[in-house]
Amino acid sequence: MCRCLIKDFETRPAVIHLLEHPFIKQAHGRDMLLRKQLATLIRQQQELGCRTKTKHERINTSKTLKVESCPNDDLVNLEVLDEEIIITHLQRRYEDLQIYTYVGDILIALNPFQNLNIYSPQFSKLYHGVKRMSNPPHIFATADAAYQGMVTFCKDQCIIISGESGAGKTESAHLIVQHLTFLGKANNRTLREKILQVNPLVEAFGNACSAINHNSSRFGKYLEMKFTPTGAVMGAKISEYLLEKSRVIKQAVGEKNFHIFYYIYAGLYHQKQLKEYRLPEKAPPRYIDSEHGKVMQDIVSSKQYKEQFDAIQDCFRIIGFTKEEVNSVYKILSAILNTGNIEFAAITSQHQTDKSEVPNAEALENAAALLSIGPEELQEALTSHCVVTRGETIIRTNTVDKATDVRDAMSKALYGRLFSWIVNRINALLQPDKNICNAESGMNVGILDIFGFENFQKNSFEQLCINIANEQIQFYFNQHIFALEQLEYQSEGVDASLVEYEDNRPILDMFLQKPMGLLSLLDEESRFPQATDQTLVDKFEDNLRFKYFWRPKRVELCFGIQHYAGQVLYNVDGFLEKNRDTLPADIVVVLRTSENKLLQQLFSSPLTKTGNLATSRARVTAASRSLPPQISTGRNKVDTMEMMRHPEETTNMRRQTVASYFRYSLMDLLSKMVVGQPHFVRCIKPNDGRQALCFCKDRVMVQLRYTGILETVSIRRQGYSHRILFEEFVNRYYYLAFRAHQMPDTSRENAITILERAKLDNWVLGRTKVFLKYYHVEQLNLLLREVI
Ligand code: ADP
Ligand code: MG
Repeated sequence: MCRCLIKDFETRPAVIHLLEHPFIKQAHGRDMLLRKQLATLIRQQQELGCRTKTKHERINTSKTLKVESCPNDDLVNLEVLDEEIIITHLQRRYEDLQIYTYVGDILIALNPFQNLNIYSPQFSKLYHGVKRMSNPPHIFATADAAYQGMVTFCKDQCIIISGESGAGKTESAHLIVQHLTFLGKANNRTLREKILQVNPLVEAFGNACSAINHNSSRFGKYLEMKFTPTGAVMGAKISEYLLEKSRVIKQAVGEKNFHIFYYIYAGLYHQKQLKEYRLPEKAPPRYIDSEHGKVMQDIVSSKQYKEQFDAIQDCFRIIGFTKEEVNSVYKILSAILNTGNIEFAAITSQHQTDKSEVPNAEALENAAALLSIGPEELQEALTSHCVVTRGETIIRTNTVDKATDVRDAMSKALYGRLFSWIVNRINALLQPDKNICNAESGMNVGILDIFGFENFQKNSFEQLCINIANEQIQFYFNQHIFALEQLEYQSEGVDASLVEYEDNRPILDMFLQKPMGLLSLLDEESRFPQATDQTLVDKFEDNLRFKYFWRPKRVELCFGIQHYAGQVLYNVDGFLEKNRDTLPADIVVVLRTSENKLLQQLFSSPLTKTGNLATSRARVTAASRSLPPQISTGRNKVDTMEMMRHPEETTNMRRQTVASYFRYSLMDLLSKMVVGQPHFVRCIKPNDGRQALCFCKDRVMVQLRYTGILETVSIRRQGYSHRILFEEFVNRYYYLAFRAHQMPDTSRENAITILERAKLDNWVLGRTKVFLKYYHVEQLNLLLREVI
């Protein structure tokens, strides 16, 4: 108690006049150590002019005084667990620039929206291998806990970062990688440098400026850092999930295409190399010019994009891509930009009204040249398609609309496959050196940075997939957090049925179960050529009899879902097409004729993801025992080959849809996660305006509620939030039943005597601990004040 007060005094000296406090007065006389500590503290407070210290200063002071973290650093230590109190507490910390707070072993990270000077190597040192409560909460402490857990228990770890878009997940992931590379001192500096370049490179291709976040991740990423049994970093591996390919061809108002397109266009513009890559010089290509001329202004007036382009060149070089490879990547990117500029016009002749042609030969020729294919063949593949009926091949022409769709499908496929190739290539270049350590004896820390829950004005298929992924992560969180709590009750022999929480499993079942879950229904409908968005939404309504699903009366083609994080209204417009994600065979055939080696690789069939077929199969099997039921339901039917195929490819086999590919990816991700010891980081966005020091209570409250933080706290309220060892309990409260000089034994019996004298009800005794309700501690402390 005294030490708690000291901590409070340290941060808010004006609130408590420490020496006046009865506990301190009493302990001061008995406790030498405390007296010494107080003297130093008071001297320091005087030196600091008794002003409120920031977290930063607390750490600096720790050089002279060994400052343990403040009990207020952990919400679990708050004596009154009330929503309002928690939120005010977080607000006070935030305004004091203490963006991190623990809830037990979960880290809450509030986005500061400003650069804080707390991530230097000095801080990495400070958080290296020390007890969690030795320092204020920090993202490095979470990384450190994962690392220490891995080294000490020889067990894989995984850090799951969640939160809304713009809450700070990706930044947190970077900081974790930074600290882990520091901890796992790579023998060769090059490896460390390579690992640090992975995130910037992948994010240039997978992130984009959205209405909410200027650097919004448009894919999910699981980065595994590989270590030797002694904890030296030896490699890394990334898995990517659900890249939002539709962004390549179209962006919503106020949003942009993937960063790399702007970097490359600006870089080549400033290096006067646009001609070399056949890019238009007067105006940027249509795919990146959604704001009509604004991009060109930015590119000409600022060197920012150019500098980012240079940084990406460095990333490629440091990681180990060859010049030839990088050149091929740029060519494909330029080809995509040129493809977007290909236009179609209708040819109306006597016999045909559904034929199209390309009036601007230049864009077509540029795209074909960059892809090393013939322009005629490309035009042919865009404006017509082969149909095989009764063994006969017939060529049918494409309307303007159809040709436009084929063009965009080709751009999306090129970009999606290029992205996968880059990820695979990075994995090959960062594979652990077999001479240092074989893969079996190594261990890893995985870091999951997955797109946050999304609820826009118009929500489409992409939002549905993103939100299902978030439901799954939330399910995993619930299982872990609440299951652990139940375990402690059980091991102490206390009734565990008190641990209740909002289980989102029924919602997940509604999406994932076979054959009647939403995704299965979507797949079924996608197989009917005559199906329309209307028939799809009717099918959902007829079959999904869940309270989480509803069909709004007045809004056509819409359905609503009550997600764990709130209600979302989805518009099914384009769902079927997006799910089918067809890439006509004619396009695949043409692209396979390319002389560009990289392109040949991208469209070789089936596209293999660098030799992970066997391991993937083994992992899915190994993890099956610990997977939640709805995952294992589908798992039995997993055809691992299907997982390796790209969804958009049309083959003779049954076509892979985006929904089924997504389901497998989700399983694959979970199977990786469940083998590791989890650590959770909950990122919170304090305001929607990206403003520093602006804490919007309502926004924070909503996030705390749906992420289960308030639920965790409320569980502690319904259950026994305080679980105190008999010894500690007797030492703390013996005044309530004994005289000061009696010094009673710290036994179970004496704990009971104290509890009875205090006239508390609803307490329970475990094997080694007293289980108290959240309000008991306050009652005990009040009583204590009366008797002292
Ligand atoms: P998310 O990945 O959750 O969508 P980001 O990690 O991209 O969000 O964060 C959005 C923005 O917030 C960043 O671009 C950065 O400006 C700011 N930010 C997030 N975390 C921090 C931090 N720890 N320190 C400083 N700024 C941060
Ligand atoms: Mg992100």
